[in-house]
Amino acid sequence: MAPKLNIIIVGGGIAGLSTAISLRRYGNTVTVLERHSCPQALGGPIGLTPNATRVLIEYGLREVMEKAHVAVEGEINFRRWANGEVLDSMRRDELTEVYGFPSWSCSRFKVQEILADVAVQRGVKIIFSAQVFGVDLEKPAVFLKHGTSMEADLVVGADGIRSVIRGAVAGNTEFKTSSPYGSYNIDFPRSLLQSDPEVDYLTRGDNFWFGPQIVVAINMPDHGDNLNVAFGTVSDDGQEGEWHTHGDLEKLKDTFADYDPGIIKLLTYAKAEDCYIWRQSDLPHTDHWVSKSGRVVMIGDAVHAMLPAVGMGASQGIEDSACLAMCLEAAQSIHDLPKVLHAFETIRKPRAEWMVQRGREESVGFFLPDGEAQQQRDAYIKNNRLWLPTGWDGSHVDEPPEGQFNPLSHAYRQAFNIFDYTERRLADLLK
Ligand SMILES: Cc1cc2nc3c(=O)[nH]c(=O)nc-3n(C[C@H](O)[C@H](O)[C@H](O)COP(=O)(O)OP(=O)(O)OC[C@H]3O[C@@H](n4cnc5c(N)ncnc54)[C@H](O)[C@@H]3O)c2cc1C
Repeated sequence: MAPKLNIIIVGGGIAGLSTAISLRRYGNTVTVLERHSCPQALGGPIGLTPNATRVLIEYGLREVMEKAHVAVEGEINFRRWANGEVLDSMRRDELTEVYGFPSWSCSRFKVQEILADVAVQRGVKIIFSAQVFGVDLEKPAVFLKHGTSMEADLVVGADGIRSVIRGAVAGNTEFKTSSPYGSYNIDFPRSLLQSDPEVDYLTRGDNFWFGPQIVVAINMPDHGDNLNVAFGTVSDDGQEGEWHTHGDLEKLKDTFADYDPGIIKLLTYAKAEDCYIWRQSDLPHTDHWVSKSGRVVMIGDAVHAMLPAVGMGASQGIEDSACLAMCLEAAQSIHDLPKVLHAFETIRKPRAEWMVQRGREESVGFFLPDGEAQQQRDAYIKNNRLWLPTGWDGSHVDEPPEGQFNPLSHAYRQAFNIFDYTERRLADLLK
């Protein structure tokens, strides 16, 4: 029988909290240390793809998440930047029909709030205002302020892109993303837009504009009834993992001055104090996700932060949560931790790193200036459903398909069954 472990998770984001819930399911004692005093209300919408909703449903969260899931009734539209021409449209429930599990969209804040509530109800201890400054990889133990420390059987680093734990395990806390993209973020009150016939269509569906700069407009009724709009720019604006910086609204308006008139009109409603800027960032590959001692492991953005174009940041953290708990459950004693954690790394690393790479390639594809490559992309969007796997026979895709425009790539991303895959791989790796 697997040992019941005393586990510290550093970071109460989506990866840390879903892992806390997952580890509790097997009877482990779990403490989450979060540096902020409460879940942060910042951040835009989070898309939870069917590969992740499958996991949350298995954790018993269907009802609570479906109440919170806030996608508006309208379609998701993919548009041309210059004039808003619709290249393709799809309904969210088309994804459910194809992949067998729903696709949820919620504000990041709401997802975190739900996960934190459920974790606490199930016996997880969350300590807020508990910033971790360092880790003893051998004991293992984490160091908090005023010289205090906490020991555990296992430390899980879920502390996001600026991870302290990564610095200790892999030696690369300081990083500079290779991403050339900045992201301005503004919430617009939906009631204001609904009273203007030139922009009220934006509140009835979600919209993506592809072009030399991109725009993503997602309705978030759960977040003060706002339309959240991300304006992606090719620029060195914004800082990695820094979500509180105000952006220069006038500069943003200049950058989008020749864009779809609907976007120019939308920007007349923007207020400077609501305009934030951050950097779209990912991480270079990290050689090891597990400390040599086999007592500290990293998950989520701490080890595989990816660009938003791939739409998988939160969903990959949620897959980590399922896989990690299953691997730990395969240990016969605490001495097996290095072995099962290396199995976790072996199972998760190639898939997460493929997503990181896809994020880079898809960003290039989304940000194309007008020209031959842009025309090919737009023709592809018109002729193939962008998020649907044309020609897929429904069988599980274990390995990433080759080629940038391979329709099977979405079957690999969204139909992936992390429970079944982990079980099969573990049987192989631990025999
Ligand atoms: C404020 C914020 C806003 C975001 N907004 C968006 C968005 O609009 N769109 C999007 O796609 N993605 C956004 N993200 C990223 C997205 O949430 C993640 O990609 C995804 O959810 C994976 O989450 P994670 O738990 O691995 O990392 P994160 O969400 O970064 O969570 C890490 C957690 O660890 C905590 N932490 C960090 N260092 C320490 C420490 N030393 N000690 C204790 N706790 C620590 C952080 O406060 C945070 O709660 C945002 C992240 C943050 C933190």
